[in-house]
Amino acid sequence: MAVSVIAANLQAVAGLNTGILPPIESPDYAYVPVRNQFDATRIIKQLAFFRDGAPFKLGIIAHDICSPILSFVYGESQLGGKAALVSLNRLFDNNPETFYQRAAKISLHEAGHLLGLGHCWESFCIMHFSSNLEALDSLPISFCTACEYEIKRHLRTVVADEK
Ligand SMILES: [Zn+2]
Ligand SMILES: [Zn+2]
Repeated sequence: MAVSVIAANLQAVAGLNTGILPPIESPDYAYVPVRNQFDATRIIKQLAFFRDGAPFKLGIIAHDICSPILSFVYGESQLGGKAALVSLNRLFDNNPETFYQRAAKISLHEAGHLLGLGHCWESFCIMHFSSNLEALDSLPISFCTACEYEIKRHLRTVVADEK
């Protein structure tokens, strides 16, 4: 369910033609026992290897993920790269609507990074960095005018990946 909400938002807000792939196996190779988390960077590297014609891959994972420098991340992206990862682990809320909105926001934010966008100073922009759920909840599910322009500009240069 979260996956289809995310796909619908990527389509509607970022104009990305989104397809949903079948679930893949739990990425045990990326498990970090001392932290009881999964290494986002390793999973993203793996995702970038998939060749199905789509230029970008966005992985959705239920496990908690981390990066070498941050104790946890909601999502991680190869800036201007091919793959990103979003964790639903810390986004849960008793209100399913809130949970879906958070998942969509993180996914749009990571998709923006994939398209080469950095963080935005504009606080009413999905590319604004949020370090906690309160900050995330206060963001709109949309890009500011400048970021939206950049998204469209980058999308014109995107070519389908080789199969
Ligand atoms: Zn970011
Ligand atoms: Zn912006």
